[in-house]
Amino acid sequence: MRIALAGVYQESHSFSPALAALDQFKAGFLLYGDEIPQELTGLNHEISGALEAASNQEIVPLTYASAGSSGQPIHRETYDRLAGDILDRLREALPVDGVLMAMHGAMASEHHDDATGSLLQSVRDVAGPNVPIVATLDLHANLTRGIARAVDALVGYHTSPHIDQGDTGRRGMELLLQIAAKKVKPELSLRQIPMIVPGENGRTTEGPFSEVMDRVIRLEQEPGVLAASAYTVQPWLDLPEMGCSVVVVTDGDVRRAESEAEHLAREFWERRKDFMPHLTPVQEAIDLVLADERRPYVFSDSADAPSSGAPGDSTALLKVLLDRDISETALLNIVDPEAVSVVHRAGVGATLQLTVGAAFSSTFYKPVTFAAYVKSLSDGTFRIKGAGFRGVKVRMGRTAVVVSGGIQLVIMEQPVFQWGPELYRSQGLEPMDSKIVVAKSPVAFRAAYGPLAAEIIVPDLPGVCSPNFKLFPWEKLSRPIYPLDDLEGDLPEIGE
Ligand SMILES: [Zn+2]
Repeated sequence: MRIALAGVYQESHSFSPALAALDQFKAGFLLYGDEIPQELTGLNHEISGALEAASNQEIVPLTYASAGSSGQPIHRETYDRLAGDILDRLREALPVDGVLMAMHGAMASEHHDDATGSLLQSVRDVAGPNVPIVATLDLHANLTRGIARAVDALVGYHTSPHIDQGDTGRRGMELLLQIAAKKVKPELSLRQIPMIVPGENGRTTEGPFSEVMDRVIRLEQEPGVLAASAYTVQPWLDLPEMGCSVVVVTDGDVRRAESEAEHLAREFWERRKDFMPHLTPVQEAIDLVLADERRPYVFSDSADAPSSGAPGDSTALLKVLLDRDISETALLNIVDPEAVSVVHRAGVGATLQLTVGAAFSSTFYKPVTFAAYVKSLSDGTFRIKGAGFRGVKVRMGRTAVVVSGGIQLVIMEQPVFQWGPELYRSQGLEPMDSKIVVAKSPVAFRAAYGPLAAEIIVPDLPGVCSPNFKLFPWEKLSRPIYPLDDLEGDLPEIGE
């Protein structure tokens, strides 16, 4: 069979000042045609899993672009260029027997609230009604009716921390091939749930969401069920159709798809109060760490997590540590292109008064100035060694390490996923030798940092990805929604 393969993986954030233009995709992935298998084969990545599952088929790679969780809704020209390129290449590739789209699922653009749904519908319009389309999605996808209408089936990650990217691609491709061969007839049911949850307790390893996901995985293994998934959604999306959801795809049984989706949605809804994370006041967290012999303590600065769409430019924790003048080693990192230029001009070995932080917005924190020694400079490139996206190359842009007392600060040009210690190790810094290591990530960092951390602490810090949703100026979001509104009792219906 002849299968077209494409995708855009971007998670948008309505309140973040971080940019989402073509440069952010160039720093992630912007791959055309044969570059796609060349760059992604053999990694823990959706595309890689899909290619493996289709090794006996003719694959036509179109365009794959990833900017991770780059922040704002994608700029208009960037979306139009990426979508236009995928559609042009798809037109040239026709006829095809199926299309696999590797998406994130929580992508908005300046001109499309639901950019995932828009792109998938455009792919449907080009491919025609009879060509099967399957999309793979991140567990933080925002499932809209538009997405569900455009495709034959949806396959989602089953893990948070996300470690099943390759497996998700494989499941998506296997299902697409079955549909294309007319061995199954997918019936998809989407159940939207009027709730949003912080990522910290949306883990599949423990806590309320693990119980939901266990049921999802069991259901997917039952005869007659082609795919099942549950989505905790990217919560900082100020869009009318936004919230958690579940999707069930059965083989030819509409009623079963609907009843299983409804059942899963109720399981999810009933646990809504258990998702709020425990946040430790930041001074208390530092006292606790300094009073203990063990190391390293890994601090999750989830409020500034680039993997949730934050700019990575927070000084909140840096300022507290500078003010306390700690002598123990603390590894921190910050995005600040201007400060990187200043430090690169000063050179290794220089001492300077350096101002860093709040490079994109000073709503939640301000820049800080301190005396710093320039320890090293680099091009900021490394590969992920942990389970999630294993082997994927990460580009921080020009990077520097500066030192002030016990503080060792990595300053970078581009925000990156902070899922493992390679960010620091690539700069010659060793987390195991440090008292405090900061990971700007709510969940995914636990896969790699969990085994090496003495303890993990989530300090209460300000930022665009704070789990306190009531802080944000919601305008477009459909109400009522939990926890912004008090919703008691049974799972409410959501009308068209
Ligand atoms: Zn995610």
